[in-house]
Amino acid sequence: MNDKLAALQRRAQSFRRAERSYIPSEMSYLILVPTLRCNLACSYCQVSRVAEKASGFDWNEETLNAVLGFIQNSKVSRLKVEFQGGEPLLALPLLQRVRDFCRSNIAEVEFVICTNLQSVSQDSFEFLSHEDVTISTSFDGTQDIHRKQRMSSDEEMQGFLGNVRRLLTKFGPNKLSALPTLDPECLPRADELLDSYLEWGMNSVFLRPVANYGFARKVHEAEIISKDWYQFHREVVDEMIQRNFQRGTCFEDYYLSLCLRRMLRSDINGHVDLRNPNLLGKDYIVIDYDGTFYPTDEARMLTRTGQIDLSIGHVSGGIDQSKLNTLNANSSNFGDPDCDSCRHQVYCGRDVIDDLSRYSRIDLPRSETEFCKRHKYMFGLVEDLLQSPAPAVHHSLALWAGIPEWDSVLSKAVQ
Ligand code: SF4
Repeated sequence: MNDKLAALQRRAQSFRRAERSYIPSEMSYLILVPTLRCNLACSYCQVSRVAEKASGFDWNEETLNAVLGFIQNSKVSRLKVEFQGGEPLLALPLLQRVRDFCRSNIAEVEFVICTNLQSVSQDSFEFLSHEDVTISTSFDGTQDIHRKQRMSSDEEMQGFLGNVRRLLTKFGPNKLSALPTLDPECLPRADELLDSYLEWGMNSVFLRPVANYGFARKVHEAEIISKDWYQFHREVVDEMIQRNFQRGTCFEDYYLSLCLRRMLRSDINGHVDLRNPNLLGKDYIVIDYDGTFYPTDEARMLTRTGQIDLSIGHVSGGIDQSKLNTLNANSSNFGDPDCDSCRHQVYCGRDVIDDLSRYSRIDLPRSETEFCKRHKYMFGLVEDLLQSPAPAVHHSLALWAGIPEWDSVLSKAVQ
């Protein structure tokens, strides 16, 4: 190869990398934890929570005003605010005040309420009914498993189901997303899982095993992402592919679709789980019930379990830039010996919080980390599917990638 061609190749590679790099923008996503109180006590709850009637675990007036001041000083014109907890609907007046303030001060604002939908008062229902509010809840695959993992009585289960039905009847499935938290030791059958989601008119399922963070770790000691999990994941994906082709459904695994789009397109750079460099504390941040800043919700959990202090300041005093810079010093997979020789590098990411959570260190060889194994599996699966000659697979890939069907593109290309 002559020198000019080699230089051109190097330049092309640099361009491809730059195209897929995440460039931090202004604050666009704010995760607020107005209360730690919760009316459930799920075994794998990732966050620290306290009893529903406990006192001293909601924002006080001073913290609320500091949060509103932080929002105002960020001077953004677009913002998504996610309310976490605890169970945020237990602190409805705080949610209402944040919502009213944002509506008056920010041109485009949306709200996501992460709620267990256990208890929805008339006032909460009214709050949820607004167009700028969407709901994220948990549903653990099937009603039986959800009951077993989260509920202490049939009555509680009926309360949850009644609230889901009421919301779906009134607003349809686009208002509500339901994240399954799946325990590899108690997995549903693939067809049962999809039937349950279909019953609620939902197509997008984020297939994720119970996380290995914070309080979940105390109950689920075993290696979380096991061979069984990958086998289960593949069975569900195959079932989705068959149903989409034969029955006209539009099922997707949210994360697999994201990996597919990230591999095929250069403009999918923003998702927090899969970006490179993964700079923390830039375009999104978490504010806890006591006003402490965290770079991610996982960082909040790790701090509360006492594993490591990942707080990055306080809403009354601002972000601790020196701590943030330390966290961000290893935010890229470029320069990592394993990643530099990996074919997935340009669309893969980096997650130092995940490494800290699992190993209490960030210097393990990349290929030994759970993050790496999980993404090698996901990208490998996408590669397998892309090479499949089966029309059913092409059909689902086209749906997931958001492009017209392979076959019609190909037939137009040869005309
Ligand atoms: S799959 Fe593993 S080795 Fe490859 S880029 Fe991602 S983290 Fe690095």
